[in-house]
Formats: sequence, C-alpha cells, structure tokens
Amino acid sequence: MAKRGDVRPVVTMACGDCRERNYTTVKNQRSDPQRIELSKYCSRCRGHRLHREVR
Ligand SMILES: [Zn+2]
Repeated sequence: MAKRGDVRPVVTMACGDCRERNYTTVKNQRSDPQRIELSKYCSRCRGHRLHREVR
C-alpha cells in the first residue's frame, strides 16, 4: 500500500551468515536513513544471526 511516488519503507532482511532472505520489515525512513541491522532467527543457520537490510 505504498503511496505513489513516496519512499518504500518495506525492506528485506538477509542473514549475514548465509545470505538467506527470510524476513521483510517496515523501517522508519526518518529514524533509520541508513541500512538497518536486526538480530533475527535464521532457519538455515538454526539460530539467531545478524540480519541486514538488502535492496
Ligand atoms: Zn542464516
């Protein structure tokens, strides 16, 4: 439901270890202008890994 011509705050999160793209999230474009990093559970690594935003 992104507004036309607006920023697209939906980003994909990829595991930093295996590069599995297993999460999508909505980031606050104003508070997080840079790429965001989150600790998420990776099903491939079978544990929590640092996930980074990918485009
Ligand atoms: Zn992983």
